[in-house]
Amino acid sequence: MKPGEKEVFREWLDEAREVYSESRDYARKMVAEMLEFRRKSRLAFPAEVKRFICKNCNSPLIPGRNLRIRTKNRHIIFLCTDCKHLFRLPYQKKTKKQEKVNK
Ligand SMILES: [Zn+2]
Repeated sequence: MKPGEKEVFREWLDEAREVYSESRDYARKMVAEMLEFRRKSRLAFPAEVKRFICKNCNSPLIPGRNLRIRTKNRHIIFLCTDCKHLFRLPYQKKTKKQEKVNK
């Protein structure tokens, strides 16, 4: 993967978040398009993009807006307040990604 490719998703999500304040439907459409693009391109979402998309309603999640974050039993609980979809993530240890570097 080229370094710039992950940026595309980040920017895409940022844009969807901006749009969200004006039109939720349009923001969801943007996220749906992003998912479609990912499927076709077979690129992986960066973690921070993957987490901030509601898998249930495709909303771009914005902390303090349509996203509530709680921590419980070593898990982070994300709640999409648009559709009440809950998902849990384990705390991530601060280990560096073990990426294979081909020299
Ligand atoms: Zn949702």
